[in-house]
Amino acid sequence: MLHQRPRPKPRVHLKDVQIHQTLGTGSFGRVHLVTYVPTQTRAAMKVLRKTDVVRLKQVEHTVNERAILEVLDHPFLVRMVGTGQDSVNLYIVMEYVAGGELFSYLRRCGRFPNHVARFYAAEVILAFEYLHARDIVYRDLKPENILIGADGHIKITDFGFGKKVPDVTWTLCGTPDYLAPEIIQAKGYGKAVDWYALGILIFEMLAGYPPFYDEDHFKLYEKILAGKVKWPSHFDPNAKDLLKKLLTADLSKRYGNLRNGTADIMNHKWFAGLEWDKLIKKQIPAPWLPPKEGNFDSYPEDYEPYNGPQATGPDPYRDKVR
Ligand code: AMP
Repeated sequence: MLHQRPRPKPRVHLKDVQIHQTLGTGSFGRVHLVTYVPTQTRAAMKVLRKTDVVRLKQVEHTVNERAILEVLDHPFLVRMVGTGQDSVNLYIVMEYVAGGELFSYLRRCGRFPNHVARFYAAEVILAFEYLHARDIVYRDLKPENILIGADGHIKITDFGFGKKVPDVTWTLCGTPDYLAPEIIQAKGYGKAVDWYALGILIFEMLAGYPPFYDEDHFKLYEKILAGKVKWPSHFDPNAKDLLKKLLTADLSKRYGNLRNGTADIMNHKWFAGLEWDKLIKKQIPAPWLPPKEGNFDSYPEDYEPYNGPQATGPDPYRDKVR
């Protein structure tokens, strides 16, 4: 099932969607609940303003995002319906993930019990294994980018920083608390940064806060590089053991980055007894089911309508953003 070649995705025009409320806002755009008219299904549409994409030097990132979404087909990664553009905006229509962000669920709970953190971490691992097998580094793992489906299983969204990286890349990007030491040190880096970020995520799920934190980014980076973690006493010893192996700055020791790849993580004691083949088929019941009506905050609907006269005018970004 997973290895079928994805079908080419349709071009989306504004007339193909009925726009409903805003589901979220990212650094570079707004995401709406929409009805995708050709199939009469609910979907999520991300709108990126071309002026912002160019001004914020995100052209390459949006190109990567669309190219990556185009080829992904995995139960724990958000699927793309199609993309489109006019003179003002880029549009990415994706499947709608009704349960909202893992972030809001985590903040509401404070922290997760061991088995809940283990469940979400395991689904992230399968998603990363799939991405890395295709030489795609995700680079932006955090609880805001993990959405919960109506069935309680995860869907990773936001491939704005995703990139095809067969060996190393150099760009400084990601979210400060989740940056691996090698990114901060401006060394070339690769897939191992995602395994480091998995360590931060597991810690944050179990503790309710990330292992390294400071309002001041410079001090935060110093803490990440120093790598001294204060371990909460309630942590399961196996979780702590795995976290040490993910959060190490030493790439020759970091789990996920060694000869056995993902297997070292999947076979770790913290996951003992977990049936990975059932997990990928969603046959392991999720620890939490979101409310039926969806689970999103409300946002001010103060955006310019997308079908204004400029949308059909000449495209000033024709050569810059495709
Ligand atoms: P992004 O810019 O991709 O990080 O999206 C911003 C926010 O929009 C996310 O954090 C979610 O709250 C929401 N969002 C993004 N994609 C979807 C989706 N496929 N279904 C539902 N909500 C989404």
